[in-house]
Amino acid sequence: GATIGILGGGQLGRMLSVAAARLGLKTHIFEPGANAPAGDVAHLVTTASYDDAAALTAFGKTVDIITYEFENIPTRALDLLETLAPIHPGRQALATSQDRLVEKTFLQELGLQTAPFADIANAGDLEAALGTIGTPAILKTRRFGYDGKGQARIMAAGDADQALADMAGAPAILEGFVNFTHEVSVIGARNPSGDVACYDPGENVHEAGILRTTTVPAKLTPSQRTDAVLIAARILNALDYVGVMGVELFVTPQGLIVNEVAPRVHNSGHWTQNGCAICQFEQHIRAVAGWPLGAGTRHSDVVMENLIGDDVDRVPELSNSDAAIHLYGKAEVRAGRKMGHVNRVVGPAS
Ligand code: ATP
Ligand code: MG
Ligand code: MG
Repeated sequence: GATIGILGGGQLGRMLSVAAARLGLKTHIFEPGANAPAGDVAHLVTTASYDDAAALTAFGKTVDIITYEFENIPTRALDLLETLAPIHPGRQALATSQDRLVEKTFLQELGLQTAPFADIANAGDLEAALGTIGTPAILKTRRFGYDGKGQARIMAAGDADQALADMAGAPAILEGFVNFTHEVSVIGARNPSGDVACYDPGENVHEAGILRTTTVPAKLTPSQRTDAVLIAARILNALDYVGVMGVELFVTPQGLIVNEVAPRVHNSGHWTQNGCAICQFEQHIRAVAGWPLGAGTRHSDVVMENLIGDDVDRVPELSNSDAAIHLYGKAEVRAGRKMGHVNRVVGPAS
């Protein structure tokens, strides 16, 4: 079977490696950090930096396909790696999702609804954008933000200077605040033949900018559910995408508004491990390896809860419940660090 190279050795890389092993495929991980969660389960781990061309070349030569668990891979590393093995999802998906301005422009050109937004390079841009977008609004760094990091809320014009200072000179985007009732996400997949399969949307609750729980089914009308899946499929097709993608949506009385797109397996798709015959990790491996996609059918109602920081102390108690426990093997507990998650099967799919 093929050997799959995974850029990034965190929990997503770990769960991708486990899924690949179940399909009889080997995984090699490229992860500069020490004690990578994926290192426990992958066949080979390279701990060189992304600047190390020799190490990247050696890695690339050992694999048949390259995929990744995070979107901020340095461009020069990708330029080198793509000469050695195909990278899935492709460069267009990466370039689009690495930069919030490119992403929102792409989504709007596809005819999808986003928050109103503006490119912010300086105080003048911000003042002008606040004039048209108004408050409340959110200033976000265009690149490298995750778990709500690199964001500042602007409740009134007087907050603008502090918000801009929070960006520390990084290029930013101003987004109008979307008055949503709740947040949902669609985990979708596409393979090289162009087949698309989407999971049922999950409803996401965030705490302090970090995903806390995902619940399926989400509170959606049948037409909203169809709309959510069609939005994901449109994005997958437009990017000629290969792999699993997470699409975050705001639910509003005016329809579904796309927040952001992740070109990878997604935390809000972890429920599929215990709610579907074929989980998002296996689906991603199937897609990038050119296998037929699994159906994405849900057999159960599930609540996924992240174990963040000290939450992991609850594992002894959780191990006495019916919750399916997924731990990432991280030795060091830190506040805000994702240590694992549990999936509670609530009943058969409703
Ligand atoms: P992730 O960890 O999901 O990648 P992120 O750091 O990329 O998060 P966003 O998803 O853009 O950040 O924002 C985090 C959360 O902040 C959203 O899930 C939502 O709750 C809230 N939020 C972001 N943008 C807006 C907006 N324009 N209007 C209202 N709420 C917003
Ligand atoms: Mg994000
Ligand atoms: Mg998000």
